[in-house]
Amino acid sequence: MGGRWADADATDYLAVHNPSTGEVIAETPLSTPTEADRAVAAAAGAFPAWSATPVAKRCEPLYRLVSLLRDNAESINRTLVEEMGKSLPDARAELKRAIENCQVACGMPILQQGDKLAGVSEGIDGEVLRVPLGVFAMIAPFNFPAMVPFWFLPYAIATGNTFVLKPSERVPCTMALIAEFIDRAGLPAGVFNLVNGDKAVANALMDSPAVSGVSMVGSTAVCRLVAEKCARTNKRFQAMGSAKNHLVVMPDAKIDHVVRNMITSCFGCAGQRCMAASAIVCVGERTHRQVVERFVAAAREVPVGDPLDAAHADRDVLIGPVISAAARERIHALIAEGLAEGATLALDGRGLVVPGREKGYFIGPTVFVDVQAGMKVHRTEIFGPVVVILKAGSLDEAIGIINDHQYGNGASIYTQNGHYARRFKLEVEAGMIGVNVGIPAPAAYLPFGGMKSSLFADIKTQAGSAVRFFTDERIVTERYWPEE
Ligand code: NAD
Repeated sequence: MGGRWADADATDYLAVHNPSTGEVIAETPLSTPTEADRAVAAAAGAFPAWSATPVAKRCEPLYRLVSLLRDNAESINRTLVEEMGKSLPDARAELKRAIENCQVACGMPILQQGDKLAGVSEGIDGEVLRVPLGVFAMIAPFNFPAMVPFWFLPYAIATGNTFVLKPSERVPCTMALIAEFIDRAGLPAGVFNLVNGDKAVANALMDSPAVSGVSMVGSTAVCRLVAEKCARTNKRFQAMGSAKNHLVVMPDAKIDHVVRNMITSCFGCAGQRCMAASAIVCVGERTHRQVVERFVAAAREVPVGDPLDAAHADRDVLIGPVISAAARERIHALIAEGLAEGATLALDGRGLVVPGREKGYFIGPTVFVDVQAGMKVHRTEIFGPVVVILKAGSLDEAIGIINDHQYGNGASIYTQNGHYARRFKLEVEAGMIGVNVGIPAPAAYLPFGGMKSSLFADIKTQAGSAVRFFTDERIVTERYWPEE
């Protein structure tokens, strides 16, 4: 914070485990609200000079950061895998998207331009300027330790704001490493600050009158708290929450491609992506029969293991561990509830032990059939390698199942029929839609964000949406009287 590394004055520390082995690999200092306040003060102190720095100059450190992240990608990726447990190819894809967001933010000299209309009235012009607001805070989740902060950080900085980041206390190492590269990129002291900690730090950032806006990504329960807190103090906020993403398979879908695509979507990152699909809706009896048979057979073959084990290093689809022993217990309990409410396990991943990694938090691929819409296993975000398969009689019914769900992050349809696809795009209540794409996560130059209980905000993130969030529109009405 304030351009220098400071020891935390925390008295409490949280153990960080490698979820593949159960070993403690680091400790997160649970920093105090006072330290959060110090970071905010540093950011506030840096704001006047930074916001007055010409926009192209503000982008220069971001160009350097892109190079530093690229040159050091493999050490960042391995750190990420070690603390979070996703596969190396997934970590590489994650960092690539983080870098892509930096690159897009380097376009700020164009992106931040306002509008001017000469002659809104006799001798009067109208102008819209996009100006930075001050200090922005970001509260991050565990599942994308590198990428998610970059949905916000480069845009906040390039628009002329200053920034305080609180990484997830469960995965602090990736951002600690990236912060070293941010430090070397040459931002003036105080423009970027990082404070480790838990909800005490998050709350201190939200409570600070010196913070203009908050970006939060995590569970819907916490998003709701963030939205309430920020609305009360009239701060800007965007809180991106939980998900239950549906994949609809139409009778005309290309089944071989579909099964491969669904396996990646459902089981990559052990189902711990906010864009992971976890509910498959098959339209028609025949489609249902085919999908159940092929999907369960393919799921059975997905390898499970430590992503840093050389045997798995470059596998595209690998089920690594879930984040913690507590997460595994929670997922086991939800599977048991699914059985109790009448769903059938076509594939049961409980009890799976990875040889040599007996202390890791692994769950094998798990598939429920005979699932009715609204059952707890369908309603709840399980956030593990657990998929529910439902049946619908028609596209209308499939869309109804999705629209009745509380979450609306992503949804995809598999079809070759443009009419079905068009209806799906227009009628489905989800922020990000896929057509024959199982993980419809938009590239950095497009907006990212869901709807319903998956998003508490008016503005999404990435690219133009992020620019709108991090700037205020100053609307100027201007005239000059003629010289007498
Ligand atoms: P989480 O809600 O437990 O924690 C997220 C952040 O909030 C952490 O930094 C944590 O310290 C902080 N926090 C926790 N409780 C808090 C409280 N009471 N007050 C203030 N701050 C608090 O989420 P997680 O388990 O780290 O992440 C997984 C969740 O994030 C899933 O629900 C997933 O769907 C969601 N997610 C959503 C998106 C999206 O784009 N919608 C992207 C990634 C993850």
